[in-house]
Amino acid sequence: MAPLQNSLKTAMSDKDLTMDDFTVQDSDVVRPPEASVQMAKPRSAEHEQGALADAPRRAEVRNLSFFYGEKQALNSVSFPVLDRKVTALIGPSGCGKSTLLRCFNRMHDLYPDNRYEGEIRLYPEDMNIVSGDVDPMYVRLRIGMVFQKPNPFPKSIYDNVAAGLWVRGVRRKSIVDERVELALQRAALWDEVKDRLRESAYGLSGGQQQRLCIARALAPDPEIILLDEPTSALDPIATSKIEELISTIGGQVTIIIVTHNMQQAARISHFTAFMHLGNMVEYDATEKIFTNPAEKRTLDYITGRFG
Ligand code: ADP
Ligand code: MG
Repeated sequence: MAPLQNSLKTAMSDKDLTMDDFTVQDSDVVRPPEASVQMAKPRSAEHEQGALADAPRRAEVRNLSFFYGEKQALNSVSFPVLDRKVTALIGPSGCGKSTLLRCFNRMHDLYPDNRYEGEIRLYPEDMNIVSGDVDPMYVRLRIGMVFQKPNPFPKSIYDNVAAGLWVRGVRRKSIVDERVELALQRAALWDEVKDRLRESAYGLSGGQQQRLCIARALAPDPEIILLDEPTSALDPIATSKIEELISTIGGQVTIIIVTHNMQQAARISHFTAFMHLGNMVEYDATEKIFTNPAEKRTLDYITGRFG
């Protein structure tokens, strides 16, 4: 594992690559059982009301703390991640949104001083994916990530999307072709690129490149997709295309999105988690958070009094 970790670290620091660009040892396709997800017991009085009570969960964060060396960036955070719903993480800059998102695919393991405490349980196996016993590469095969700045590989449009499949051992051309097309359709990009699949991804506009990165993340059919401010580098039209596609795929795949744009959170998410100074202040249905939050700090933030 050590040489692989090192090469990952080097490659990641040049930040044009994602985990998908690396070959894994075990080239079997990792697919979880299609079994229904865990019906976890509600954990707070709030969750006992309404939709939250018996909604199926894809994951659950429990008392998760995270440390960059000495610096604690997350302080015993807990919240559920509902299956095939869009969960938005909001809060002022520096509150720990990206740190939390990166825990979900063990991105922090690239640096040895980083440390997790607590759990992120992934269902249906009910496995703690931040445990030292779980291989980060395995987690990354099941949970895909898209970054703020579009980061296509310097390859063709087709190869960018196919990369995530090759890494998972999908080799047969007919299947790769089929899944590349499907992913591009789900990312609302197919019509724009179907006649130029062999051209460089760098020839696409910024918005198209970001949809390509979403297609790359979707191609292997991950269980959760993590999006860290995916539209903050894009113009309004490109942004609305991405919001539209998130709304469309939101019923098919579990999405966690970090956004500093509250209108965006309100438009596209089903559930919203408000963070402040490394703490999870409030988590609830998006409508509740934006109309009648329980905490004063949430109200102050959504009404623009700070942040
Ligand atoms: P957000 O995404 O909400 O803006 P971050 O998760 O990036 O916030 O940062 C949360 C806190 O962790 C901030 O105080 C930030 O300075 C700190 N932090 C982020 N990355 C590192 C790092 N690599 N090393 C040390 N501290 C970090
Ligand atoms: Mg951030």
